[in-house]
Amino acid sequence: MSASPTIVLLQALAAVDDSIITLDATLASSDGRLKKIAGERTSIGTVRDSITARRTEETGKLRALDEDLRGLARQTEVARDRQFRVHKLADVQTAESEREDLLRLTRDKRVELEHQSTVLASISAEFEVLEERERVLDAELSGDGGRYASTAGEANTERTAKLGERQAIEAQLPVPLFRKYEQVRERRGNALARAFAGRCDSCQMALPPTFFQKLRREGLVEQCPSCQRLIYYAASA
Ligand SMILES: [Zn+2]
Repeated sequence: MSASPTIVLLQALAAVDDSIITLDATLASSDGRLKKIAGERTSIGTVRDSITARRTEETGKLRALDEDLRGLARQTEVARDRQFRVHKLADVQTAESEREDLLRLTRDKRVELEHQSTVLASISAEFEVLEERERVLDAELSGDGGRYASTAGEANTERTAKLGERQAIEAQLPVPLFRKYEQVRERRGNALARAFAGRCDSCQMALPPTFFQKLRREGLVEQCPSCQRLIYYAASA
């Protein structure tokens, strides 16, 4: 027994609707990826700003330490000169201990300077990681970004075509049947089911035997008593 024209139309409609669902998913994922890249790009910008501010601050500290060290070198020089110029033992001792103090301060400052250099090196490393991530994202935007855009473009074109097909099918279906189809589709995601081996192949519920026999004998389209989908008899799965 060949399927009735109405069933053929409903099958075509359901196939078109499946394609539209797939195309919508493609559109959402292309768009989603682009939005995600843009979002990450923005947050990298924020992190970059804060690292830049930190680097400026820490560089300032390094310069100040460097300046301190130069000052200490000059003071040490002056103290040494004085040590050679004084003659009284007490004065020599004072000058010497003064010089020792200065040398100790110098050593401490050098340790601080070294530490500060490490801090700046780690900031530079953070910067490099950030810039690398930025390069990766930019590459994805200029390469795959184009791909996402063209995928989205193709999906949109195809979607428009499918909507056209849909309208053409709708025009051939009885209005109440189409309305019912739309009603069920909105609730269930898809609206067409097949009665096979005594069951609805969508919700898997057993159909009343008389109902099933009626579908089989008369080739009708009814609604599944359980899931409300439009249902027709199918000879095979
Ligand atoms: Zn059902």
